[in-house]
Amino acid sequence: MLLKEELKKFNDETSKHSANKTARAAILLLHRALRDKVFSVYSLAAQLIRIFFSEFATERVSSTEISRSVDRLLPELLTKSGDTTPRIHNMAVHTILSMADCKCVRDLHLIPVHLSRPVSSSTHQRLALSRLEMVEQLILNHGISTDKQSGLTCRTLSELGSSGLHHPAEAVRKVSERILVLVYKVNPRLVRKQLPPDDDITRRNLLYRQLFHEFDLIDLQRKKELESTSQASTVTPTNQSRNKSINNNYNDTANVTKTSSPSRASPINVGTESSTSVTSPSENSGDHKGDKMCIFCLSKGQAYSEEGLNIHYWRTCPMLTRCDSCKQVVEISYLSSHLLNECDQRNNYVKCDTCRQAILEKSFIDHSKNDRCTKPMDGYERCPLCRTLVNQNKWREHLMGDNPCTNNPRNRMTKTSTKSPSKSQNLGGKLTSPTGRDY
Ligand SMILES: [Zn+2]
Ligand SMILES: [Zn+2]
Ligand SMILES: [Zn+2]
Ligand SMILES: [Zn+2]
Repeated sequence: MLLKEELKKFNDETSKHSANKTARAAILLLHRALRDKVFSVYSLAAQLIRIFFSEFATERVSSTEISRSVDRLLPELLTKSGDTTPRIHNMAVHTILSMADCKCVRDLHLIPVHLSRPVSSSTHQRLALSRLEMVEQLILNHGISTDKQSGLTCRTLSELGSSGLHHPAEAVRKVSERILVLVYKVNPRLVRKQLPPDDDITRRNLLYRQLFHEFDLIDLQRKKELESTSQASTVTPTNQSRNKSINNNYNDTANVTKTSSPSRASPINVGTESSTSVTSPSENSGDHKGDKMCIFCLSKGQAYSEEGLNIHYWRTCPMLTRCDSCKQVVEISYLSSHLLNECDQRNNYVKCDTCRQAILEKSFIDHSKNDRCTKPMDGYERCPLCRTLVNQNKWREHLMGDNPCTNNPRNRMTKTSTKSPSKSQNLGGKLTSPTGRDY
């Protein structure tokens, strides 16, 4: 608290210490306070950090000292951003983003550069998620930049986005898709270059289908805009109108991502269990044919080829199912959200406030009379196939464990094989993860 007064009242003329020295001492203290186990201490530290950069440091502390300060605090804040306690996580994210907004820090580009490094499949789910969400926020606040130093160029961002597409956690993949869509609006060619070719095989892959579909919509919209502008006026200088349309696009994006992306904590917590056993992917993997693992069930099978992996998704992966309404393959744990938010038939479904499941609107009255429509316990969700309650973090156990879901058609199929695949897999201990860039 004393430190707060000191920072607020600091006067260049009268102080016996230089601003740089005061800064260094303050950061030392704040760094220590950040690590304090007591929440109020941590929270005060976070608040002071924001004051430090927004009020004290600007135009007073040298840029070398500022970058030292950021380097010192950022790792600690990033760790906290992966904390399981929401208020600790939220405060860390808020502090990092506020720091990134302060002019003195923003000019140095330190934070975006740090946040936009590609993620690997072994990056812990919560850390990867909060980092990607912060980058998404930075894009929405600051825009995509052409400055190579900024850490927010189309190239860096599309690399980050495509690296996140292979993360085992659904939530991480979803933010990565949103980031790629944002970049696509500015530079479609670059994004396409990062991804496998847009052909039938890729489109059949669960990971890319939704994304390419979004790209198509953007292309279509852009085409329409071009047609309408070229019809409207041939007189307006092209440069200006193009900038304008990018800006418009950009605003649209902001709206779209806010409304159409229900931020949803992924029910599958694969990151936690697998991050320890998954070996880090080789970065510059060339073409490993037949060396692919299913990121949903983590089975390596008989070393899937690209095509084999697709067949696995479509027919056998016990974590996936085909949506009866639209025939897309979706994660079983995600089926309810799919029916409510992305399914072609989503208009026919409503969310039941009691049991939180997607229910066909026309049979809703019947449903609400049903005994099965009860409020789930905290941390549990209902399996859409067998209707039993499943621990949010134990979907894999429910679908692939010793007593797997009784109503999963894919389980009945694999029952002929001797034992559950998950068991033998996990005992193997060493799994190779899907690589960041290997398609
Ligand atoms: Zn699988
Ligand atoms: Zn569907
Ligand atoms: Zn219900
Ligand atoms: Zn089930």
